[in-house]
Amino acid sequence: MSDAELVLRSTRVITPEGTRAASVAVADGTITAVLPHDADVPAGARLEDLGDDALLPGLVDTHVHVNDPGRTEWEGFWTATRAAAAGGITTLIDMPLNSLPPTTTVDNLRVKQDVARDKAHIDVGFWGGALPGNVKDLRPLHDAGVFGFKAFLSPSGVDEFPHLDQDRLAGSLAEITGFGGLLIVHAEDPHHLDAAPQHGGPRYADFLASRPRDAEDTAIAALIAQARRLNARVHVLHLSSSDALPLIAEARAEGVRITVETCPHYLTLTAEEVPDGASEFKCCPPIREAANQDLLWQALADGTIDCVVTDHSPSTADLKTDDFATAWGGISSLQLSLSAVWTEARRRGHGLDDVVRWMSERTARLVGLDARKGAIAPGRDADFAVFAPEQTFTVDPAALQHRNRVTAYAGRTLSGVVKSTWLRGERILADGEFTEPKGRLLDRT
Ligand SMILES: [Zn+2]
Repeated sequence: MSDAELVLRSTRVITPEGTRAASVAVADGTITAVLPHDADVPAGARLEDLGDDALLPGLVDTHVHVNDPGRTEWEGFWTATRAAAAGGITTLIDMPLNSLPPTTTVDNLRVKQDVARDKAHIDVGFWGGALPGNVKDLRPLHDAGVFGFKAFLSPSGVDEFPHLDQDRLAGSLAEITGFGGLLIVHAEDPHHLDAAPQHGGPRYADFLASRPRDAEDTAIAALIAQARRLNARVHVLHLSSSDALPLIAEARAEGVRITVETCPHYLTLTAEEVPDGASEFKCCPPIREAANQDLLWQALADGTIDCVVTDHSPSTADLKTDDFATAWGGISSLQLSLSAVWTEARRRGHGLDDVVRWMSERTARLVGLDARKGAIAPGRDADFAVFAPEQTFTVDPAALQHRNRVTAYAGRTLSGVVKSTWLRGERILADGEFTEPKGRLLDRT
C-alpha cells in the first residue's frame, strides 16, 4: 500500500464485486485501492478500524426538493444537506421546483448555485426545468452543467412551474435529444386525473381514488411513444403504479432508452395503513396498496425499476392539513431513506449490496457521475456511509435535521443506523456532530 493518507477497514465493505472484508486506501479525497482486510497500513497513514460496521459508498439521491431560495421556510441547503449527511447521502441533485426562482434559465441556476455554495454539507448538483416557452433555455442550461431536465405532464402544484402538454413535450424532448440530454418526467396524465372522482376531505381512500393508476400508466405509455419516435433518453420519476411495469419492461426490451425510479414511501408504506387525515403520507402519485408494493419490489429485484430516490419534498407543517385534496403533497425522508429501504429490503431477503446498487450505483449512473460516485472502487471519490445494519432505532421527529420535522415515518422502528458519513476522505458527520460545510457544487461535465 502506498500513498495512502487514510485507511478505512471493515469486515463488510460493499464493493461492486460484492461484500467482503477489506481495507480501503484513500489519498487526496480519492479511493486509491481496495486491499485485503489485513493489509499493512503505510507509515503516516491513519487507520480507521470500523470493526463489523458496514462501509457503503455514500448514497447519491437524484430527487430532492431543497426549495432554497424562495421557500426556504420549507427546507434549505443548510438543513437539507445536513439531513442527507445524517442519512448516509453524500450527493444530492436538486429539483428545479419549488424554489423561487425555479431552475429554468441559466440566470436562475446561478441564483441557486450562489445560495447553495456555502451551505452544502454534501455535494450538490442541479436539474433544470422544461416548461412551456423555455425551449430556448434548455441548451444553455445543459451547457451550464445541469444534469438533465424535469417536466410535468399534469399540474405540478406550484403556479410558476406549469406542465407540458403532449405537443410541448415533443418539442422540448426533441430539443433535449438534439444535444444528448436527459428528460425526467412526472408522469400522470391530466385528463385521467380530471376524470377521477375528486371528493376532497380527510379520507385516504378518497385521495387514492383521485390519483388512479391509469393516470400514471397512460402518461408513461405516451412518454414511451415519444421516446421511441425521437430515440430520446427519458426517465420516469417516482413510479407508484405497478400496472405500468409491463409497459416499461416491453419498451426497454425493444430498445427504448427509458429508466425508472421509485421511492422509499412506495416501498415501505401502504395505503391500507394510512390513517384518515394523516396528510404527512400525501404525495403524488400516491402510496398505493400492499399488493402493488409487492410488485414494485419484484420489479426492483428483476431490474425493471433501476433505482430508489427520496423525492424529499417538504413544506411547513401548517400546509399539511387534514384535507388530502388541499394539503401539500410531498414526503420528507432524506435522513431516513437508507434505513427505511434497508428495513424492508432485509425483510424481503435482499442484501446491502442490493440497496447500494439501487441508491448509489444506479443513481450515480443516471446522472453520469459514475466515474466519481456510486461505488467503493479505485478512482472514485472517498464518499462513505458507515452503517450498522443490525442496530435499530425508533423514528423521533425531534431528532430529524429536516427544517420541518414532519414525517410519515414517525414512531416506526427501523433497522440500520448511520454511524458516520465521509466526503472525499473527510468525516463530515460522526455521533450527531457535523463539520463545517465541505460540499461542492457539481456540474454534469
Ligand atoms: Zn419530486
